[in-house]
Amino acid sequence: MSIRLRLTVWYAGLMALTLVLSSVILYLVLNQSMTIETDTFLESKARDMSFSLQSALRLPDLDRFAEGDVYAQLLMPDLTIVDESKSLGDLGEPLDPEAARLALAGTSSFNTVVIRDVRVRVYTTRITIRGNQVRILQVGRSFERFEHTLTWLQRALLIGDLALVALATAVGWWMAGSSLRPIVRITRTVQSIGESQRLDQRVEYEGPHDEIGELVHTFNRMLAQLEASISAQRRFVADASHELRTPLTTLRLNIDLLRRDRTAEPPERAEVLDDIASELDRLSRLVQGLLDLARADAGFHLEKQPVRADEIVLDVYHQVRPAADGVVINLGETFPITFYANPDYLKQLLLILLDNAIKYTDPGGQVRFTVERDGEWVKFQVSDTGRGIAPEDLPHIFERFYRSRGVRRQRGTGLGLAVARWIAEEHGGHIDVESVPGRGATFTVWLPAGEPRPPASLQSS
Ligand code: ATP
Ligand code: MG
Repeated sequence: MSIRLRLTVWYAGLMALTLVLSSVILYLVLNQSMTIETDTFLESKARDMSFSLQSALRLPDLDRFAEGDVYAQLLMPDLTIVDESKSLGDLGEPLDPEAARLALAGTSSFNTVVIRDVRVRVYTTRITIRGNQVRILQVGRSFERFEHTLTWLQRALLIGDLALVALATAVGWWMAGSSLRPIVRITRTVQSIGESQRLDQRVEYEGPHDEIGELVHTFNRMLAQLEASISAQRRFVADASHELRTPLTTLRLNIDLLRRDRTAEPPERAEVLDDIASELDRLSRLVQGLLDLARADAGFHLEKQPVRADEIVLDVYHQVRPAADGVVINLGETFPITFYANPDYLKQLLLILLDNAIKYTDPGGQVRFTVERDGEWVKFQVSDTGRGIAPEDLPHIFERFYRSRGVRRQRGTGLGLAVARWIAEEHGGHIDVESVPGRGATFTVWLPAGEPRPPASLQSS
């Protein structure tokens, strides 16, 4: 059963139940109040009659009290009829013999009896006339008039209730349908995404910001995020293949050259071999960068341990100094600083920054490399006096494969800073950059000095 049908059935069912209950109550209350009204009327009639009967010397005419739908009878204790109103039309028998016997014993009562197929309410009481003669007085009133009203009410309630239930069903069906429509749309969109594999579709919704509105909004937001991340992945794969193709083509050309021209002079061969070595170097850097980023994307987390920041800085310094290409590297003063980090990845991060500083600074320039504790942070800084970074490049240099226009002829993959940022973030830190074009750039890495969060036990490797 669909939700729509279920909601409608519940709605209409509850409506029907409420209507039936209230109609029954209304009917019963009306019936009861009519009976009470009749009883009061009959009692007061009986009082009037008994008063006249007791005080008169001759029996008064009962028709003075009873006419139309009101009846009266006066009985002897043996239930023979002394007198009865004309409205009874010669009934010839007591209105309610059972009640008459009870009245003789002193209990007055109200009863409903059927006389000539008409329901009649009868009040029976004992009276004493002329001092000591016991008589039974029965006063009755037919229900006929009320029954008309009640039958009419019954019909009106039945028809009204049926009409209301039909209306409730229609309104319920419409309401359930219109509030579930966005869900139908979501289903269609999901189906269509499944068939077409296109994530640029959205569910249209123009309605209040209720639960359904929230659902549509969340669903659309999720689609947008999926679309962005899948298109980033696609771009990444496309860029990566493109970047991999260039060194592979160069390698292929160089190797072909060597094979074809076996008689080439040694200096020429050495040049080609150098070229091959540098392409292989570039290729392995590229693959390493891709591997790091693929791990980052797969949710890989770094294992941390207590490390000496100053020792790592010294290590990295000794490693890059021989390849400084005429750039002077100044190491700041180092003090012992211990904190939680992954030593291999921390070295990789610092190497990426120093590599850039050396690469983008002309020979004779200077690079300053420092580490210090700054409050809650361990602060590594690499600043150079090189070409600097143009303001329009600054927001993009941490993106994968992004390289400034001016450096494209220099070796590089554009993955270095993307990896560096991931490593810093994995440590719970971040990287800042400042630069004056033509004057140099300063990269500052902030890593938390305290215990690592989340705890190392939660991290997978
Ligand atoms: P690789 O992945 O081989 O390191 P890359 O150096 O080009 O290649 P990133 O290290 O990610 O890539 O740097 C991105 C870009 O940021 C560089 O291409 C360069 O334009 C700019 N850049 C980074 N560091 C500096 C710096 N110290 N001075 C000037 N420009 C820089
Ligand atoms: Mg770099």
